[in-house]
Amino acid sequence: MSQTFKRILCPVDLSSFSLDALKLAVTLAETNDARLDVLHVIHNPFDEIYMSAITQTDPALMEAYATEPQKRAKILRATEEHSEVLLKQFCHEAIPSHVKVHYHVRRGEPLENILDGAEDFLTDLIVLATHGRTGIKRLVIGSVAENIVRHAPCPVLTVKPKMEGQP
Ligand code: ADP
Repeated sequence: MSQTFKRILCPVDLSSFSLDALKLAVTLAETNDARLDVLHVIHNPFDEIYMSAITQTDPALMEAYATEPQKRAKILRATEEHSEVLLKQFCHEAIPSHVKVHYHVRRGEPLENILDGAEDFLTDLIVLATHGRTGIKRLVIGSVAENIVRHAPCPVLTVKPKMEGQP
């Protein structure tokens, strides 16, 4: 039986682990001539990864949030706008221009959004890292990764962290 994958989903949390998984997903997309869906889920809109980008372009926003809680909606919008740019920057070097890639940003629980994404994009393979930004080293697999393996509607390929000295 020969199995080809035509729609590959790679969820990325912007960690170096997820970048390694993305590189493998790109190779698979190239060899299968597949469409690659890259999905980032904003779990905490006030996370440092977004805040640094937002405050660089608009420092007043942080100040506004601290003093005027009603500006929360503005911060959320800014995070969503910046996260798409951050996601594309994060992927830029790993994805050659000939790869058919679609970028997606969603907000909420990563697990739920990744599973919903897999259905929406008609994914036939999910490629993701065993670890992410929380990076608790003693765990064999992070909780999002574990639950994706358990509940995904399609095959899942997990990518372990590189051993020291590995290229
Ligand atoms: P850890 O507990 O080490 O952070 P996770 O299970 O949360 O591990 O993350 C493993 C992988 O799951 C990440 O490398 C990424 O591929 C995916 N993932 C986790 N959170 C998100 C997210 N918010 N958006 C997209 N992908 C995610």
